[in-house]
Amino acid sequence: MVKVQITKNGLTPFKFIVSTKDIDLINDVDGNKFNDEIEITGNVVDGGKLFNVEGTIKCQKSFICDRCLVQSTENQIHNFNEEVEIQDVDDGFVDITEMIRDTVMAAQPIKNLCKEDCKGLCPICGANLNENECNCDRFVVDPRLEALKNFLQE
Ligand SMILES: [Zn+2]
Ligand SMILES: [Zn+2]
Repeated sequence: MVKVQITKNGLTPFKFIVSTKDIDLINDVDGNKFNDEIEITGNVVDGGKLFNVEGTIKCQKSFICDRCLVQSTENQIHNFNEEVEIQDVDDGFVDITEMIRDTVMAAQPIKNLCKEDCKGLCPICGANLNENECNCDRFVVDPRLEALKNFLQE
């Protein structure tokens, strides 16, 4: 659980290093794994009636690229900024576990790619096309075009 102290004086900075367990981050889903040194830095901002918790999460994710199946790691930085309701303050502290987890989870892409323009694997020989170009004929002819070609040749 990650808690920040609510104090009545403008801006109160905080910094934590937490594990995935501390923020209930789901690991090992489809080979995804977050490192266990997630850095959270930010401020509690006293806005008079309301408080704001704002900050940055730095984490590293290990995953298998969806296209080329190579093990990759990526450093991620996510920002958060949320209002805190006074009823959420418990004994001067507010639990930001969910805020942190939701921010990280919502920022994850549907496809994990080692790089944006990953060329993937050759469907014929399985070569990693980022590393070398194989000589397979991957051009699939549209059957309608093929018929037209045959027609023109006759
Ligand atoms: Zn890739
Ligand atoms: Zn090939």
